[in-house]
Amino acid sequence: MFSTVLIANRGEIAVRIIRTLRAIGITSVAVYTESDYTAPDAAPLHVRMADQALQIPHYLDIEALVAAARASGAQAVHPGYGFLAENAAFARRCAAEGLVFIGPPADAIEAMGDKIRAKRTVSEAGVPVVPGGIGADLETWTDFPALIKPSAGGGGKGMVLVRTAGELPEALASARRTAEAAFGDGTLLIERYIENPRHIEIQVLADTHGGVVHLGERECSLQRRHQKIIEEAPSPFVTEAMREGMGAAAVEAARSVGYTGAGTVEFIVDGVSGDYHFMEMNTRLQVEHPVTELVTGLDLVELQVRVAAGEPLPFGQDEVRLRGHAVEARVYAEDPARGFLPTGGRVRALREPTTVRVDSSLAEGVVVGSHFDPMLSKVVAWGEDRATALRTLDRALAETTVLGVTTNIPFLRALAGHPDVVAGELDTGLVERVLPALEPTADVPDDVVAAAALLFHNAPPATDPWEVADGWRVGERAWTTWRLESRDGVHEVAVRGLPASGAEVRLEPTGVMSARAVVEGGELAVTLGARSLRFVVVREGDTVWLGREGAAWTLTRHRIGDPGDRPGAAGGGDGIVRSPMPGTVLLVKVAAGDQVSEGQPLVVVEAMKMEHTVTAPVQGTVTELPVRAGQPVDMDAVLAVVSSEE
Ligand code: ADP
Repeated sequence: MFSTVLIANRGEIAVRIIRTLRAIGITSVAVYTESDYTAPDAAPLHVRMADQALQIPHYLDIEALVAAARASGAQAVHPGYGFLAENAAFARRCAAEGLVFIGPPADAIEAMGDKIRAKRTVSEAGVPVVPGGIGADLETWTDFPALIKPSAGGGGKGMVLVRTAGELPEALASARRTAEAAFGDGTLLIERYIENPRHIEIQVLADTHGGVVHLGERECSLQRRHQKIIEEAPSPFVTEAMREGMGAAAVEAARSVGYTGAGTVEFIVDGVSGDYHFMEMNTRLQVEHPVTELVTGLDLVELQVRVAAGEPLPFGQDEVRLRGHAVEARVYAEDPARGFLPTGGRVRALREPTTVRVDSSLAEGVVVGSHFDPMLSKVVAWGEDRATALRTLDRALAETTVLGVTTNIPFLRALAGHPDVVAGELDTGLVERVLPALEPTADVPDDVVAAAALLFHNAPPATDPWEVADGWRVGERAWTTWRLESRDGVHEVAVRGLPASGAEVRLEPTGVMSARAVVEGGELAVTLGARSLRFVVVREGDTVWLGREGAAWTLTRHRIGDPGDRPGAAGGGDGIVRSPMPGTVLLVKVAAGDQVSEGQPLVVVEAMKMEHTVTAPVQGTVTELPVRAGQPVDMDAVLAVVSSEE
């Protein structure tokens, strides 16, 4: 067995791998880049947990990773997922340096990396594939609806759905252009589009002694733009007979390429007939592997390490048992109320549930930026049955509070509670279909606004927020009006009296309510009329962050006379244009000194393949333009200042 292993990755996956290495007595070596140190006092969690940590220029820098492994005395490298996990050149380079790559052989990575070759290989091994065509078949295809895919594709990028023969020539031309631009390879394939598609995948494990087993399925049909959101095991759709068939097919697919280690064979399943077809094999550990671990009781990382060290699998297919049900929800730094734009910021306070499994990269003080994937953590619940697992997941999400970074947690709760999801009636189009009904909203509830006003009333911004518990202001009988700005605009709340012993809050249209508020140990206990609420709270000067039941809000106090402190002029009134998300400046459409009209595009910011155009808030002159194309920007970074004539 290895004594030291280097993890060529970051975030929650690095943390996850380090946890197992520790448990089995292996020294862990982390790597990090400059971008991981978002604040001088905030080392990323994987660096804090590892026994050793080495800086590298970039996570894709193969030579630097190999040098770090050598310098640390590691005998093996775990690639995690993403970055170089499915990079055959990296696997080969490790082998050439005498380092064991904890993953499949480079040849197997290559065989599965190309969709056309992978389909041909597994089909020859008897695995059902989606009827499809390549080369000359593309132009003469007659089976519609059909899906065009780039052969070198990944992440759903560049796929085009074609409904009729008439659309085909144009769709082929466009898909070819996209594939060339995105992957440097215009090779395409066409497939029958499976209606009511369910994404169901099989976890396989293979050792170097010819042993191959499967560990049952995961259903990952809850996706948005081919991005998985909630996954579960087992699938509510899969019968014992289907599991046996799909499992055997997945084992054959793995055998056909001489696979070793942990891998996933993805199937697209017809949600009516139950027919399943091989889509692709991911030659690595997957984000959603925890649901399989929870229902099998196995540690997949430990098994990967043992297989890589040459040990045979310690069990056969007959000994694999599935027990209960597991559901995983992915917490992303994104804002469902604003079209799922990526968010960012400093984690001001963090509460994570302790009763379920949480794979997380979060820690207080860490800054979430635009450099890496927006997935922050995974909350994974287990129950004896599916309903219990879903209920437990909901409670766990409600117990998760992230202050300072907007997350998708309220959306995850709404999705997991949607009647179709509860009924197990899933397909890959469900999320887009039910999105309007889930009503992701930017509105800040009245009780949150009232709580923030009570907090300010309790201790005006000049004093230390943590002194508030014993320092309520006395003798006030008149109403004080607090103007609080949030993502949905400016709220006015009037407060009078002593929040600790008894006050009144007035806000429209609710009217006057009796109120109490006490801060204790980072939590704010509020009573409003007959309702009692607890918030996780952090305050810095004029800004307060409040969180409860998985949701979080930021409210900033407007001082009278502030720029922008005019009705209807919240935010943009000062002419300062800020980045709505962490990202990269793609285009600067104006120059300093230009006259611009209200609403005119100024700058285009890009993050996670999404473009956002930032426009002029007022008519006037561009007096400052501190950014240029290609520059990374944080959320709320100043992009331009437009001074109005008046
Ligand atoms: P990528 O490698 O780009 O992720 P995949 O081949 O894995 O592409 O497909 C991505 C997603 O597209 C799948 O999860 C599934 O939802 C959908 N999909 C792929 N092939 C088909 C098909 N033939 N019919 C219907 N949906 C499909």
